[in-house]
Amino acid sequence: MAHTLRTPTDRTCERCGRIEVWDGDAGGWRVAAGADESDDRAVGSPYCIHEWDINGSFAPFEDAGTDAAEG
Ligand SMILES: [Zn+2]
Repeated sequence: MAHTLRTPTDRTCERCGRIEVWDGDAGGWRVAAGADESDDRAVGSPYCIHEWDINGSFAPFEDAGTDAAEG
């Protein structure tokens, strides 16, 4: 079985409250603002050094450190 690279689907900045969602088609993050362009609740601050709070269940790899025998 191939390793599954888990990807978070959304992340929130702990500093400014910016919310982004993963856009698989674009291969990048995009702001999770509402359909209305004037709705900038989730945009946060452009000057913020974002401190992302990714979903707690997120782990970069399925079995980090336990796949030494693979090959
Ligand atoms: Zn931020």
